[in-house]
Amino acid sequence: MRPLYCEKWLGCWTNGCRTINVLQERIEQVEERIGRAVARAGRQRSEVTLVAVTKKFPADVICQAHALGLRCFGENYVQEFEGKHADVAKLDGAQFHLIGHLQSNKTRIAAGLFQAIETIDSAKLARRLDEAAHSLAVTLEAMIEVKLSPEESKAGADPGQLPNLIAAIRDCPNLRLTGLMTMPPWNDDPEQTRPYFKKLAELALKHGLAKLSMGMSHDFEVAIEEGATHIRVGRGLFGPRPKPA
Ligand SMILES: *Cc1c(COP(=O)(O)O)cnc(C)c1O
Repeated sequence: MRPLYCEKWLGCWTNGCRTINVLQERIEQVEERIGRAVARAGRQRSEVTLVAVTKKFPADVICQAHALGLRCFGENYVQEFEGKHADVAKLDGAQFHLIGHLQSNKTRIAAGLFQAIETIDSAKLARRLDEAAHSLAVTLEAMIEVKLSPEESKAGADPGQLPNLIAAIRDCPNLRLTGLMTMPPWNDDPEQTRPYFKKLAELALKHGLAKLSMGMSHDFEVAIEEGATHIRVGRGLFGPRPKPA
């Protein structure tokens, strides 16, 4: 058997099998945490999609995670994922979500690589993406990234822009708008982040959108309690991200 991918961030130095075990253990730990959170919230496990965030990890890690049953993957950088795409495009049932900021000059490439774009934040970007999807004859799932704290990063739409942006995306025949995504300001204490998750859930309800992409490795339990349908988990599954050599 071909040796499995073997790198220190998956805790393996000597033999590939160990890598799989480490990843499998981490998947089990994350699943236990999800299970407890959905139980506390009176929700079903099937209501929450685990988006495995594989940015900075090589394609092999995606293949291994797929072999262990993960199906939905999140990537931040169009160009980085373009480099891995050939190795993962054939994975049965795999779905790829763009969760990082999309520049409008990358919409064409992105439309060919991803099934869902979670980070639409302007009508202009939506229209570019729609044209790109049209020319490739694909339909893309679309989510709007919402910026809930003014002082944080530039990415994301202001809540006040949502009515216009939602209308613009609904006018795009090749985009299927499903929900909202957010990335709150970093805080070690998930309770400090809870108000942001609550706010996103309120906005989604107000605008009739079913999906909520919120929560990361350190705070996804709170996000699930507040209604997350997609949690984006990187380090909790794969450990610390590799530093560029
Ligand atoms: C990297 C990233 C994540 C995952 O973060 P972890 O702390 O590794 O779980 C989730 N969402 C976005 C937008 C990210 O960039």
